[in-house]
Amino acid sequence: MDYPTRPCHGGIGTTSPGKRSAMESTAQPSPLECPDCHALTADLEAHKHWHSRLVHDIATAVDKDISRRAHTT
Ligand SMILES: [Zn+2]
Repeated sequence: MDYPTRPCHGGIGTTSPGKRSAMESTAQPSPLECPDCHALTADLEAHKHWHSRLVHDIATAVDKDISRRAHTT
């Protein structure tokens, strides 16, 4: 009756943490952080598309405002 103590049988995550994290990253897509506004988004491509649209809208609005002011003065 001599049970050998197995250190690798301690619990979850002690066997191979590297392999486990790699499986997690491939199993489910983790939210990505936007490099521009640091918002977490599941679909970074769609978020970037939204960004470009927003920037375009602001740019055109500002451009209109500048041209309007230039014309009035
Ligand atoms: Zn963003």
